[in-house]
Amino acid sequence: MNCLSCNGKMKKSTVPYSINRRGYHLFLEKIPAYVCSRCGQKYFDENESKAIQNLLKSFEKKLDLVIAA
Ligand SMILES: [Zn+2]
Repeated sequence: MNCLSCNGKMKKSTVPYSINRRGYHLFLEKIPAYVCSRCGQKYFDENESKAIQNLLKSFEKKLDLVIAA
């Protein structure tokens, strides 16, 4: 797998991932990802992307019970 922006080599690694939304900031310390060894571009596997989306969905539902809109 090569980087889509610079065609450099992608390395399997872990990266921090942060989400800033209205009402909260979520910081995930280690998400598996491919990182370009040349330009540092990050790519998430479909599995991880989906897992993060699911996490956010259920998180936001529960968050509604705790904080005012
Ligand atoms: Zn690159």
